[in-house]
Amino acid sequence: MEIQQQLLEVAKEFGAPVYVYNANQIISQYHRLKNAFKPVDVKIKYACKALNNSAILKVLHKEGSGLDTVSINEVLLGLRAGFTPQEIIFTPNCVSIEEIQEAVKLGVHINIDNISILEQFGAIYGDSVPCCIRINPHILAGGNSKISTGHIDSKFGISVYQLRHVLRVVESQKIKVNGLHMHTGSDILDSGVFLQGAEILFDAAKHFPNLEFLDFGSGFKVAYKPGDITTDIEELGAALSSRFLEFCEEYGKPLELWFEPGKFLVSESGFFLVKVNVLKQTTATVFAGVDSGLNHLIRPMLYDSYHHIENISNPNGRQRIYTVVGYICETDTFGWDRQLNEVREGDILCFRNAGAYGFTMSSNYNARFRPAEVLIYEGKAHLIRKRESFEDLIRNEEEFAL
Ligand SMILES: *Cc1c(COP(=O)(O)O)cnc(C)c1O
Repeated sequence: MEIQQQLLEVAKEFGAPVYVYNANQIISQYHRLKNAFKPVDVKIKYACKALNNSAILKVLHKEGSGLDTVSINEVLLGLRAGFTPQEIIFTPNCVSIEEIQEAVKLGVHINIDNISILEQFGAIYGDSVPCCIRINPHILAGGNSKISTGHIDSKFGISVYQLRHVLRVVESQKIKVNGLHMHTGSDILDSGVFLQGAEILFDAAKHFPNLEFLDFGSGFKVAYKPGDITTDIEELGAALSSRFLEFCEEYGKPLELWFEPGKFLVSESGFFLVKVNVLKQTTATVFAGVDSGLNHLIRPMLYDSYHHIENISNPNGRQRIYTVVGYICETDTFGWDRQLNEVREGDILCFRNAGAYGFTMSSNYNARFRPAEVLIYEGKAHLIRKRESFEDLIRNEEEFAL
């Protein structure tokens, strides 16, 4: 069945707005990445902040993926979906030592991203619990400064220029460092820049004799519109794999190479379906007002991200120009001047690349319900999260009588 036809049927069966994910796409991206790094012992830790529905976690776990988590609740979601603690890495930023202690109790890998926590960790555990250290190599991987983490003002990671301080803490507290990590943020536009970052990590790694893995984070770029530059995974895989094997020789033992992709695995698998409530002609444009807004898909407003929009209800209609906006009492423009097949009130519009940072960034703003989620698995549509109801909105309110 044509994907558009199948999406229309999902909208009919489960209503709009609804997020729809295609499991085949996720599985094929996973194996594409695995294969690109075939020469090395590569482990993929899916960054589940991109999309954390348990059904998605189970699909990736079945393929052999591990998990990258940034909060204790993401760790719990992972364990609940069947990941073993050893398959999970906890990479938080600015969380309390208590939250890190909880993660240690659960047995997952710990990734530490500041010297204060490293000292506290060492004081509590000494050499009894290993940890990974997040290094900021200060390379700029990509174009969008709002999502890059490698710059000098970034709050992420421990600056590579503080390596001597790190080593002092590690040595005096006998901390066992089993991994080094870098994540330079989203948008790797060219593998040369990435390899530069890798060299910085290799240099740092020589100071840590107990390493078991090097974690290169993510930032793989996928296409959001035709003609977008994407990360050439196969090219990066060939270049980094051979350099990595060479480094393992220098280091004196084989290491695992880890990645933590979010967007790369799930972005293109996702479709967000909304219904057109009203067409509104103004002096400036024709607005297509839909039954959604920044409460459901905030990337266009937060990052100026482009999401391709199609009118799947009228695929053969005449192309016209619309501005697609939400129903929230804020300026929530999804896209100006979009060419869409003639839009009628009631039509279903489909947003592409809605798999990553769509549902997980949604909210209840304006007392709206978060949408349903549907997974297409082996050709069949499964409801994997039902739409919220009024009960969900007031669940935690306490009775207050005046
Ligand atoms: C968000 C995040 C990722 C995933 O980034 P993508 O751009 O979605 O691939 C990986 N690692 C860490 C530590 C992150 O915070």
